[in-house]
Amino acid sequence: MRIILLGPPGAGKGSQAKILGKLLNLTHISTGDILRENVTKDTNLGKKAADFMNKGMLVPDELVTQMLIQRVNQPDTKNGFILDGYPRNINQAKALDELLEKRDTRIDLVIYLDTSLKVIIERLSGRLVCKYCGANFHIKNMPPKLQGICDNCGGRLYQRSDDNEETIKRRLEVYNKETSSLISYYEGRRKLHRISADEELSVVVDKIVHLIESYNDSLKV
Ligand code: AMP
Repeated sequence: MRIILLGPPGAGKGSQAKILGKLLNLTHISTGDILRENVTKDTNLGKKAADFMNKGMLVPDELVTQMLIQRVNQPDTKNGFILDGYPRNINQAKALDELLEKRDTRIDLVIYLDTSLKVIIERLSGRLVCKYCGANFHIKNMPPKLQGICDNCGGRLYQRSDDNEETIKRRLEVYNKETSSLISYYEGRRKLHRISADEELSVVVDKIVHLIESYNDSLKV
């Protein structure tokens, strides 16, 4: 099964995708995580991407799409995958369609996480991420047991450099200008399912699991 989680920054795509991936045995592909890893390792891609990311802008399509193709071609995607952060515009959606067509597969579901601005700002401004395993915490809503330390692996928690007020504002502008048009793109292809994502993580995950089960049931009829 191949799923896209679509929604603004702060919708919870990464946290949900991590849980769903384990539950459903699907590989979680986050283009943001892959890019951040490249920036940390100071690879050629990381050098080219860092400035765009720090400014809250999209990294150029050619770079991200090439990176995605390499990732989707890994053997661990055979059983399916959950895409988080890709596509971010129509051009990327078309590149993804083309890539999957070549593999004689397609996207099954696009889940749009409808999130209010108030919740987005609150989530992003308090988000903490584990440097080692990528787990997400929140200063107020989901604090780690020990301050600054990941509950899962003991790694150090940090605040993403693009989770500051100015960059959050830019990322939301970019989302509204470029990414939100994907809602109608996938609606037109009858793939889009809306979920309200303001509630806490476990509630939203349950709703997504229910949606996926209904989808699988509909295939059996
Ligand atoms: P994310 O972790 O999904 O919030 O992404 C963090 C940053 O990585 C974004 O603000 C962009 O600069 C970059 N990025 C991630 N995915 C993409 C993509 N599909 N296309 C372009 N830039 C991306």
